[in-house]
Amino acid sequence: MHQVRPKETMPGASLAAVAMKPRLTELREFPIPDIPPDAGLLRVVATGICGSDWPMYLSERPGPRILGHEMVGYVEKIGDTARERWGVKEGDFVALEEYLPCGHCESCRTGEYRACLGTDRRLPGTVRYGSTPISKPPSLWGGYSQYLYLHPNSIFHHVPPAMPAHIAAMALPIGNGFQWVYLDGGAGPGKTILIQGPGQQGLGCVIAAKASGADTIIVTGLRSDEGRLAVARALGADHTIMADEENVTEVVARVTSGRMADIVIESSGAGPNIINSSLALLGRRGALLIASRVGGPVPNFDVDRILAFRLSLRALRGHSYQAVELALRAMASGAFPLDRMSSHVIGLHDVDAALRMVGGESEERSIHVTVEPWKN
Ligand SMILES: [Zn+2]
Ligand SMILES: [Zn+2]
Repeated sequence: MHQVRPKETMPGASLAAVAMKPRLTELREFPIPDIPPDAGLLRVVATGICGSDWPMYLSERPGPRILGHEMVGYVEKIGDTARERWGVKEGDFVALEEYLPCGHCESCRTGEYRACLGTDRRLPGTVRYGSTPISKPPSLWGGYSQYLYLHPNSIFHHVPPAMPAHIAAMALPIGNGFQWVYLDGGAGPGKTILIQGPGQQGLGCVIAAKASGADTIIVTGLRSDEGRLAVARALGADHTIMADEENVTEVVARVTSGRMADIVIESSGAGPNIINSSLALLGRRGALLIASRVGGPVPNFDVDRILAFRLSLRALRGHSYQAVELALRAMASGAFPLDRMSSHVIGLHDVDAALRMVGGESEERSIHVTVEPWKN
């Protein structure tokens, strides 16, 4: 017999924080939908707030929606067909990905479902957790809600039962770190990894770089990132640099004895000029991996340097299944003080204020914020 959650936790409605229009979040109740044989229902325990929630919070389109796409919870209900297909059962503690790939296109069939058009939320009609409007039945598409509708194409990861939910809710940002630094960047022994920006994704990169056995891990930020840079050091960064007070190139040259970095990850979103300054931090045959929007054309883009140093440039996007599995394993290892990354755990009532904090509109600074929808 498998574990089944107590019946009294199964109400007829789910409370959710709905992004109604730009800068307005309201609490609303939604009926628990009937579950078809190929779908299910998740009792959400924790959902991490992602940096990408901020632009969605500010956006008029596609209409009211429940944000939140980094969910962890218990499988509450599951249809018979889904039980056969998913490899999960009622009561399982799982982390979900935001993607709902189609499952049958070339990208899906080759394991690269991030490239499936079904995962691209800019395309009209795409269904994806945390960005699909409530007008699309059964409305429960986001993690800032007590219950989430489990679409037939959901991607599950088993979470070790002992892992606290607010830690498990970091599986996707840390998964991004493993994807970018290790799977895409090839981090490993002997390598120097430089991470621009100590946000949750940047810190995920620190964890992945450390787990990969990289020699030297350097993280840049600003004076105002002091707290985040301290967390980066606790997670394994060897050097942190405040780019508004120190000469980054000089420090990197000093700590690498002039060899410079093998990999630079741009996750700061500091604007177009960061591209040339990142190229200047790379040693021969180094790679610049771009994870955040640059926000416009790069002035005096230094192609000659790319040629002279035989550098490569690569665009990053999200995570593969393997990356999230690697993240969960590293997270369960006990090797990383992940509690230092969790700056806030809040309830549904505080979602609006928390989104503004993540967007930088508050005095308070956050690193990783978790929404626990059953918390008062
Ligand atoms: Zn995200
Ligand atoms: Zn597909």
